[in-house]
Amino acid sequence: MTAPNFTRTVLGVPRIGPRRELKRAIEGYWKGSITRAELASTAAGLRRDEWDRLVSAGLDSVPTNTFSYYDQMLDTAELLGALPPRVAGIEDPLDRYFAAARGTAEVAPLEMTKWFDTNYHYLVPEIGPETAFALHPEKVLGDLEEATTQGVPARPVIVGPLTFLALAKPVDGAGEPLSRLDEILPLYRDLLARLAARGAQWVQIDEPVLVTEAGLSLAGDAARVYGELSSAADRPSILVATYFGSPGPSLEALAGTAIEAVAVDLVTDLAAVDAVAAVPALQDKLLLAGVVDGRNVWRTDLASASATLGTLSGSAGALAVSTSCSLLHVPYTVGAETAPEPAGAEGVRAWLAFAEEKIDEVVVLARALTEGRPVVAAEFGRSAAVRAARSADPRLNDATVRDRLTALRATGTGRTAAADRAVVQRDRLDLPLLPTTTIGSYPQTGAIRIARADLRAGRIDEAEYVRRMQSEIADVVALQEELGIDVLVHGEPERNDMVQYFAERLDGFLATENGWVQSYGTRCVRPPILYGDVHRADPMTVSWITYAQTLTERPVKGMLTGPVTILAWSFVRDDQSLAETADQVALAIRDETVDLERAGVQIIQVDEPALRELLPLRAADRSAYLAWATGAFRLSTSGVADGTQIHTHLCYSEFGDVIGAIADLDADVTSIEAARSRMEILGDLDRAGFANQVGPGVYDIHSPRVPAQEEIESSLRAALDAVPAQRLWVNPDCGLKTRGQQETVAALRNLVAAAKAVRATL
Ligand code: GLN
Ligand code: ZN
Repeated sequence: MTAPNFTRTVLGVPRIGPRRELKRAIEGYWKGSITRAELASTAAGLRRDEWDRLVSAGLDSVPTNTFSYYDQMLDTAELLGALPPRVAGIEDPLDRYFAAARGTAEVAPLEMTKWFDTNYHYLVPEIGPETAFALHPEKVLGDLEEATTQGVPARPVIVGPLTFLALAKPVDGAGEPLSRLDEILPLYRDLLARLAARGAQWVQIDEPVLVTEAGLSLAGDAARVYGELSSAADRPSILVATYFGSPGPSLEALAGTAIEAVAVDLVTDLAAVDAVAAVPALQDKLLLAGVVDGRNVWRTDLASASATLGTLSGSAGALAVSTSCSLLHVPYTVGAETAPEPAGAEGVRAWLAFAEEKIDEVVVLARALTEGRPVVAAEFGRSAAVRAARSADPRLNDATVRDRLTALRATGTGRTAAADRAVVQRDRLDLPLLPTTTIGSYPQTGAIRIARADLRAGRIDEAEYVRRMQSEIADVVALQEELGIDVLVHGEPERNDMVQYFAERLDGFLATENGWVQSYGTRCVRPPILYGDVHRADPMTVSWITYAQTLTERPVKGMLTGPVTILAWSFVRDDQSLAETADQVALAIRDETVDLERAGVQIIQVDEPALRELLPLRAADRSAYLAWATGAFRLSTSGVADGTQIHTHLCYSEFGDVIGAIADLDADVTSIEAARSRMEILGDLDRAGFANQVGPGVYDIHSPRVPAQEEIESSLRAALDAVPAQRLWVNPDCGLKTRGQQETVAALRNLVAAAKAVRATL
């Protein structure tokens, strides 16, 4: 039962393929352009190549079963027989799996939400009274067999019972999923026995939930679950992996059981190092020390990681070097970045480590530990040189930016009282009651995609590209005038992405060519890398908005992305606080608002859909976060006159934990996702003391369904029960870029008609 210890590993790896082969194969299979056998063979090839890489890099324990056709939580639901009953009728297992992931014409998919505080999204398992758990181990066992045949020292990875249930949602009146622990524990025991029977020496059970606020009260359950699983006679050695923060009281609980190993993230929360030292029961365990950051892109400071390992050496029975979490959250390799570095960002690539480079770092650190520093002196030397060059780089220390921030902080970044601003703005803008508007983007037309591809391929020049975008803008403005919308937008045709667009125009950001990371299923993103002090050299959006304004008498909103969202969707520097970085981005956005105002723009929207995303996992850390996040937003929006109306937009989340912060943003108008929560958000805002104007989304843009006029009217009446008419705006609940043209026009027509009908009754 007790397998030999290992010394170097990672907690997981990217799985989309170095060239996004899996994405292409799965989408091809969905379209019917490749067969199931071809899909299976691409997938098997990716697994084989990945294992080869890990073994030849020198890992002595290799995480397996990290491959997924869509998502590891969905895989776990399938493993435990907990797919929703509505897909049960679909006979074929792969089609059933994809139906649960993305729905079909007949069945709705599982809900999707963010995996802890990362940008990965998992599918939320549904646990109902009828859920009859049963083990379906085919995927896990098949994967193990493949790996073993290939001679890989395999360590199958599975999501643990606490994390699985804590992240699931109860449906059909069922109680808390965690109350079902006793139903699934026997399945885990059974699975462990089967893995052992097939030769698995180790198994990794992931329990990231233990680092969260909810995890604080799960230490007792952790002791029970892992006491029970480790008491089984037939099982591999058990590694319980915690990550994304310090494991808190669970560490002691886990150490008190008979499991063989624990993984601890030593990067996210430095307090974890002391926490480990304080648990004597780790003396007979293998500790996986997560000293290489699994979710950011910087090369590890080997000397300091090595010092941490030194500190820990007496605290555990044995040490293995590892990443802080799975490498799922970083791109494959810096080696795939081959084009010349963009002007201004020369040399930055040398500071980076993606998955493959991090695997090499783990091996170097482990060799230093087991064979002594001299054998890896060259690698340590290079690491120190990179570190020295990076920290001395003038791009990390722009005196102009820093001085301006110091001065601004001294003078304060508040605006006149909101009620007074509202009076000035009302006179100036002269809008009707219940003004109608949209969130920014309009449907992405084929022409936009073609223009972008043509520009990239050099088939058209910049001037022609601008002409084509202007023609899109003209269409969107004409449509809004015809519909009778009150506050217009330009439609955002020029934005490839609401963060990337700004990152490409700001100093301090580096874009990657191939730095793809899985966001969910087959959707991949290429987050920009924020490496230095952020500075805006030239206006970024003014020409588009002013062009749109020339086409209409009605006000056109300027459209910007807020500092918190820009941070949340980028890889950010690790050499200063997020708060400091946020303020620098905020300063750049502030400069843009000032230029927009100067160009005659009267309304400016600064989107912060990611405000909730960066909320710390532990409640104790939240108020500090919200203070800097709202502070950065105010910094970005307080450079304009009282008569300039600032809007913001929030979506993608339950707002419960950040409701007070929404009031602290002090935007003149806040549009907020509300259609699915039936306007309940308005009461919550009211209780939080929010008294500015608000546009609760009156229809859900995530579905192609066209809402009827009466339906929107009834939403508006519900909103009027909570908010006086003088404070209410009428808008959809998010941008329209993922929608089709026809349904958008129909929905907006109903929206305007509903606003007019309700207005007439006031
Ligand atoms: N202005 C953006 C748009 O309409 C907002 C997108 C978002 O909220 N994610 O597309
Ligand atoms: Zn939105």
